[in-house]
Amino acid sequence: MNQQRDTQVFDLINLELVRQQEGIELIASENFVSQQVMDAMGSVLTNKYAEGLPKKRYYGGCQIVDQIEQLAIDRLKQLFGVEWANVQPHSGAQANAAVMLAVLKPGDKILGFDLSHGGHLTHGSPVNFSGKLYQPSFYGVEKETGLINYDRVEEIAIKEQPKLIICGASSYSRDWDYERLRKIADHVGALLLADISHPAGMIAAGLLNNPVPYCHIITSTTHKTLRGPRGGIIMMGKDFPNPWGDKTPKGEIKMMSALLDSAVFPGTQGGPLEHVIASKAVAFGEALQPSFKDYMKQVGANAQALSKAMVNHGYSIISGGTNNHLMLIDLRTKSDTLTGKIAEDTLVKCDITINKNTVPFETRSPFVTSGIRLGTPAITSRGLKEEHMEIIAQFIDKALMNTDNEAVLMEVKQEVHQFMKQFPLYA
Ligand SMILES: *Cc1c(COP(=O)(O)O)cnc(C)c1O
Repeated sequence: MNQQRDTQVFDLINLELVRQQEGIELIASENFVSQQVMDAMGSVLTNKYAEGLPKKRYYGGCQIVDQIEQLAIDRLKQLFGVEWANVQPHSGAQANAAVMLAVLKPGDKILGFDLSHGGHLTHGSPVNFSGKLYQPSFYGVEKETGLINYDRVEEIAIKEQPKLIICGASSYSRDWDYERLRKIADHVGALLLADISHPAGMIAAGLLNNPVPYCHIITSTTHKTLRGPRGGIIMMGKDFPNPWGDKTPKGEIKMMSALLDSAVFPGTQGGPLEHVIASKAVAFGEALQPSFKDYMKQVGANAQALSKAMVNHGYSIISGGTNNHLMLIDLRTKSDTLTGKIAEDTLVKCDITINKNTVPFETRSPFVTSGIRLGTPAITSRGLKEEHMEIIAQFIDKALMNTDNEAVLMEVKQEVHQFMKQFPLYA
């Protein structure tokens, strides 16, 4: 097994390290994990098959990984105060697929937040399994306010009679009224799923509304604000019998926990990634420390400071601001010709990484868009504070006002590299 080092791959990994070190990372769904979170992922656990759940495996030799997975489950339950959790989904999309497989039949109706208003592909988009296997309908934000109007959600729910209502988003900068959504779900006899992939870390830190008392099922990624390895999780505040009465062979009504466990494996996945599950356990352990709450508070303070700085430079934020870690900027008020695509390409040239994003009531194609999404989880992990947000806004504005001037863009890039030297990453 004495292999020659694969320099072709490792040289590229090193180049990616340099890219991450030199640039300003503003993609709202990205973060920088700790060294120990990475160490667990790069461990011998990748060698182990462990289909099934701790103590109920289809393979031998699972006595150690059983303890690791149980630790991940126990820490996650403690972190969110939930009664039940499954830590095996390979990603956020896989977690949502498992929930839908558990609670829906093909052709059932689902109601989700519109993708072009900030929702996620897995909430019913026609290009995703969720929109192909189920019948989706959508709610969105109000044109005037950029906010969700819950009366309108209720009207749509009553009209559509969905079996599953999904809340949660990828680019909505405001909090959710889970209590109101639960009333709507109860009124139409639907289950309520909260997909907290984006704000999970802020919720765990107690800085946003808590979905646990109100939502039947909660899914999340582990790699966004939660600052763990790439992966997914499913949780329930309280287990409950399947309301649609699926029976066991003995005629008992199945509990939702059993349905969800089997929807993950064997329903949608094979063997769990125990190296990633170990890494999730490490990340949950970090999130249980008091310092994680300080980190999440700083993420929120940075997002507010960055949104104010962008507004001062003449940009407008959908809904007027942010209560979480991200903001969606509508570029149309700044310039008629500046599209999301041009902004993304221009900023990438300066090593400022963002993503183009559709805005509500978008007039351009999803490949062009009129918006950009900015988030503060990654830069906050590097140690940036409120006072640095004005500097970032200046870099962004200088670049976006000079999209055709390569000399200015190269100048901004040098300034960005110089600025980020103060915030070492994986030194
Ligand atoms: C990121 C995200 C997902 C998908 O996560 P992946 O790990 O990329 O599959 C699902 N739902 C929401 C709301 C997200 O933001």
